[in-house]
Amino acid sequence: MLSPSLEDYLEEIYRFSTQLGYIRITDVAKKLDVSLPSVNKAVNILSQEGYLKYIPYKNIELTEKGAKLGKFLVERNRTLQEFLEVIGSNCDKEEEAEAIEHYLSKETVEAMTLVVKFFKERPDLQKRLIKFEERARKKMK
Ligand code: MN
Repeated sequence: MLSPSLEDYLEEIYRFSTQLGYIRITDVAKKLDVSLPSVNKAVNILSQEGYLKYIPYKNIELTEKGAKLGKFLVERNRTLQEFLEVIGSNCDKEEEAEAIEHYLSKETVEAMTLVVKFFKERPDLQKRLIKFEERARKKMK
């Protein structure tokens, strides 16, 4: 199991590898707003744990294990943002998904994924939910 912080590193590294085709320490540092030594440290741990291959100053490459978990982490983040959207939360979806993503079991993530899928298949029901919430919120005021 990776720590929340290492999960975030791997998640961003996976995004860079799929979107840019290459991974650079400086890009990861900028994206996560952390120092270069911090990224270096994380990359070394991820390398030791078999998630990537790292040749300092040359190349970072995800292993199969790293790519598999990276893909899961990116999809989990996206699903959580979509979940917050479909249930009608007015929160900052990006920020909140980022915060809760590390603390949910696989079972809960799966159930949330299915809720998203359910409402995608039944947009009429999603609209009803949102209407219901609007009425309920007015009453609560
Ligand atoms: Mn996070």
